[in-house]
Amino acid sequence: MQKQKINSLVWFRNNLRVEDNSSLINAINNSDKIIGFINIDPRDFISTKYGFKKTEKYRAKFFLESVKELKSQLEKLNISLIITYDYLDKSIPQIIKQYEIEKVFLQKEWTRDELLEESYFPKNIDLVKDFNQFLYSPKDVKTLYDNIPRGFSNFRKKCEKYLSVDNILPIPKPLNNDNKIAIDYPIPSLSDLGFNLFEVHKNSVFKFNGGEINGKKRIDDYFFNTKNVSNYKSTRNGLIGENYSSKFSPWLANGSVSVKYIYNQLKKYESEVDKNDSTYWLYFELIWRDFFKYVSMQHKDKFFSKDGIYGDNKEWSTDIDILSNWINGKTNEPFVNANMIELLETGFMSNRGRQNVANYLTKELKIDWRIGAEYFESMLIDYDVHSNYGNWLYNAGIGNDSMPFRKFNPKLQSERYDPNKLYEKTWLDD
Ligand SMILES: Cc1cc2nc3c(=O)[nH]c(=O)nc-3n(C[C@H](O)[C@H](O)[C@H](O)COP(=O)(O)OP(=O)(O)OC[C@H]3O[C@@H](n4cnc5c(N)ncnc54)[C@H](O)[C@@H]3O)c2cc1C
Repeated sequence: MQKQKINSLVWFRNNLRVEDNSSLINAINNSDKIIGFINIDPRDFISTKYGFKKTEKYRAKFFLESVKELKSQLEKLNISLIITYDYLDKSIPQIIKQYEIEKVFLQKEWTRDELLEESYFPKNIDLVKDFNQFLYSPKDVKTLYDNIPRGFSNFRKKCEKYLSVDNILPIPKPLNNDNKIAIDYPIPSLSDLGFNLFEVHKNSVFKFNGGEINGKKRIDDYFFNTKNVSNYKSTRNGLIGENYSSKFSPWLANGSVSVKYIYNQLKKYESEVDKNDSTYWLYFELIWRDFFKYVSMQHKDKFFSKDGIYGDNKEWSTDIDILSNWINGKTNEPFVNANMIELLETGFMSNRGRQNVANYLTKELKIDWRIGAEYFESMLIDYDVHSNYGNWLYNAGIGNDSMPFRKFNPKLQSERYDPNKLYEKTWLDD
């Protein structure tokens, strides 16, 4: 029987890569002609209720770099990439019609905004979704838990003990050139999205560019070329420089590198170079990333709600002056201020810093945690819905922290993690 002719779209959202991309492979295996699709929605770049854009210039730049690499990687496979800069609800029907699309392959998501996006497809279009952003896949985790435990340790120990990580999927072979739909959509520039071109700050700890190849290069450098991963456990609470931690998060967040790829490289490093507490600890952190994905999947809209997951009806303030002092690094705490200025100037902040400023905003200044999370969403190069909101809930004491009243003392934190005040000087004296 002759194979049915199908034109398919691969819709890239947070999976901007060609290696270990199940949607891409499925589309190739089940279609005659395929095209990639990315929509950039202008609504992501206008200010929301508290005056923050959903996406600020740092992530916008990294995203455009990622799209550029994706487009050239797909070209090598004879797959063109449609790039529209329009309201998604307008561009989807138009593309479906123009290219006579019958099937759409996409990474499965579960949070509200992403589901709304999917609802813009006409009902007769077959949406083929699969999970492709986890270390431990949902089909396996489901065998362990009906409900994801409140505590991370519980979750981690069972995953480590009983589950294994699926193999990564290869980069597909190039399609036959006859099947190529030859089109060339330009990639918008940063100024098209409403931003001025800018120089990366000289003290930024994140001077890397977006995209799958750049991400793999960073992994190679952090693991094999410098062996920095062998010291990760003792450096990970650092604040200065590009190597105190891996800086993998921005590539993981937009999926230009998969977490399974990183895991694979880590295992290779452990078998060929070195295996110690530090290499284990990097893996441990990757399980945190999975954990928040599962927590958000389980708790749905509570994950974004005022009272959080394990809330206690806190009264939150929305005082604009207090908030603005926090954002602009003008609180009474130099350590908090230095971190907030770093974020403002670079779009990045260390994990130590993030915990401190979130804890301070919610537990000392008593500002509504959702505003802090929205500000991070706007500014962070590595914004990821599950890690961001999950960590904010945790630090606000209404999420997965088993000691929800834990309050950091920024002075003690500064003494411990910035004993010579080099970090504070970097951002406060500039
Ligand atoms: C309030 C707050 C908000 C945060 N928002 C985000 C966010 O939007 N996006 C994001 O990727 N991370 C977020 N994190 C988690 C963490 O701070 C960053 O993942 C980390 O700082 C990124 O730097 P790195 O890649 O060098 O991390 P490394 O220390 O090298 O860790 C390796 C990887 O492990 C994962 N990881 C490490 N710590 C965490 C954690 N606490 N939670 C989840 N995953 C973790 C990340 O994928 C990270 O890239 C947030 C943390 C806090 C406290």
